Amino acid sequence: MTRLPGPRTTFAARVRDVANRLSLRYGRPRRSPHRTDPLGNLILTILSQNTTDGNRDRAFAALMGRFPTFPLLGAASSRSVEEAIRVGGLARAKAKAILAALSRIHRERGEYSLDFLAGMPLAEARDYLTSFSGVGVKTANVVLLFSFGKEAFPVDTHILRVTKRLGWVSPSADLSRAALLLEPQVPRGESMPLHINLIRLGREICSPRKPLCPECPLLPVCPEGQRRTGVRRSPTG
Ligand code: SF4
Repeated sequence: MTRLPGPRTTFAARVRDVANRLSLRYGRPRRSPHRTDPLGNLILTILSQNTTDGNRDRAFAALMGRFPTFPLLGAASSRSVEEAIRVGGLARAKAKAILAALSRIHRERGEYSLDFLAGMPLAEARDYLTSFSGVGVKTANVVLLFSFGKEAFPVDTHILRVTKRLGWVSPSADLSRAALLLEPQVPRGESMPLHINLIRLGREICSPRKPLCPECPLLPVCPEGQRRTGVRRSPTG
């Protein structure tokens, strides 16, 4: 049984409580193996913009099939990269972003690698990644969390919707603002499980149009769910 945080509970304690509730429902997800190489992860995350996970993975597989090493990819023409990733949509913009990132990394570091970010503080590493065209806070945070294990907290559209309904971020907050606001509130070691479990909740239960509030493990602590169902928070959740 999960205890509800009291009325004077801090924001961080509310975040921990939600993380615990989601872990009880979904378990503690492990890091996905294909998300470990930082530069491959950056490319994968650029490919994930405005498309499904399936099309992102198909585009990534096609790209790596055609250009199996980063030097080969870095030397490729924009048109050939565009052709390889067409299945993921926005191919021209994504090809441009990928090639610009590879070119700059090689020019500045003398190799195709982002490993140097491991020793950089989180905010500095994020500033470096977001200085690339086509790389926003969400993309940077995915790389920093999944490839380096830093305590970054990527916020996607599912997490934004759920956290707005929980009252954690303002209704007008965008992905970047929500990520930077939530990051310091997430307990150490919870960024990855909370990120993955909130996305799962958003996909399976807290959908945009018809959230299944009566089935939701967060109903006892969710103002929006209680408004929709008329159920008031219970003493034990
Ligand atoms: Fe979403 Fe309803 Fe759960 Fe709140 S209680 S997080 S609105 S599904």
